[in-house]
Amino acid sequence: MTMSAMGEPCVLLKLGEIVLKGKNRELFERRLQGNIKGALKKLDLKVDVRQRHGVIALFLPEGTTPERADAVARRVAEVPGLVWVHPAWSVAKDPDTVIKAAVELIRDSDEVKRGARFAVRSRRRDKRFPLRSMELDRAVGGEINDVYGLPVDLKNPELTVSVEVDRDEVFIYTGGIPGQGGLPVGSSGRALVLMSGGIDSPVAAYRMMRRGLRVDFLHFSGIPFSTSESIYKAYALVRELDKFQGRSRLWVVPFGKAQQSLKSSGADRLQMVAQRRLMLKTAEEVAHKVRAAALITGDSLGQVSSQTLANITALDDAVRLPILRPLVGMDKTEIMAEARRIGTLAISELPDEDCCTLLAPRSAETRARIEDLRQIEKRLDVEDLAVRLADSLQTYEIDA
Ligand code: ATP
Ligand code: MG
Repeated sequence: MTMSAMGEPCVLLKLGEIVLKGKNRELFERRLQGNIKGALKKLDLKVDVRQRHGVIALFLPEGTTPERADAVARRVAEVPGLVWVHPAWSVAKDPDTVIKAAVELIRDSDEVKRGARFAVRSRRRDKRFPLRSMELDRAVGGEINDVYGLPVDLKNPELTVSVEVDRDEVFIYTGGIPGQGGLPVGSSGRALVLMSGGIDSPVAAYRMMRRGLRVDFLHFSGIPFSTSESIYKAYALVRELDKFQGRSRLWVVPFGKAQQSLKSSGADRLQMVAQRRLMLKTAEEVAHKVRAAALITGDSLGQVSSQTLANITALDDAVRLPILRPLVGMDKTEIMAEARRIGTLAISELPDEDCCTLLAPRSAETRARIEDLRQIEKRLDVEDLAVRLADSLQTYEIDA
């Protein structure tokens, strides 16, 4: 008998921290389901999403090939809130069927061909099932051993056959893809990412999406004194990050003239910090418009001169909204490894003209005094400037 004669193809999803959420759990699960459906839209496949206790099962149309099921699994594994994603089969809830299906499931696998050591791991979420987990392990394992002669190895198996008895069905699978962990995007609210073309800010955005924030993106370009390369990079980065949340929006502020004004008003060694404060003030204006409740930056303590403790304090002073800095305690090597994993590193490493370096002084202040910064800003009427900058946005919407 073939697998498709014995059950239905599906993808089994293991939820992360959501399970801990008590009363809010239903809300979280519904949001996660919505995010999953959104992620699968482009795959053009009728997927039936069913909530079970602590897991979600995606039922795929009859005749779905294993390759197609894998594609669904890979796509869903990008959605925050899941710890594991298993391409699986759903079979009838009777021991005999489960045993036969488990044998069938691995028939064509490499592990069977090379006589790999195996283990069966059963779990019973429905205690009415006639066999207890241990008994199921033994029944399924015994049959696999009889049919293929594979040796059992419970400690260090090369092949693990998982059996999960659920409310209406039994899921069986081998292997899976690790998920992103974290919480469903949107469950923590909205925030605005200050997005450069660099390595850090995309990672910061990812980290906060994974903590349940839906994020919008704001990029400052040196235009008209620099090329639009940095905009293309920011756009490409947002497109890449869009796989984690969908419907992303990027706004670009032409910032060159404002930088020039700061310079003219004698910012000198404070140019960098003054620029960053103006970016934050502008971002705060934009945040109010799009109802974002926090700003996110890629600052990491001590990484560059604008990120000393004194300068970070001076940046916090510029706005009332909280500034979230998920990378503050990370090393550059750690940030780069994560950027590689989420697919943004190669884009960030493309050459560009970053607006920050445009008018950078020869030596930058590492201990900016807030009073000095306020003086410079007063001369410029900076609050008004921030409002005008926030009105000059160019919009890019991503529908990846
Ligand atoms: P990144 O790799 O994210 O560019 P960085 O190490 O180069 O960071 P800075 O250039 O000092 O550090 O920038 C610190 C943070 O300020 C960035 O992570 C980002 O959040 C914000 N930022 C800097 N430049 C821009 C920009 N041109 N547009 C939007 N945000 C910016
Ligand atoms: Mg930078």
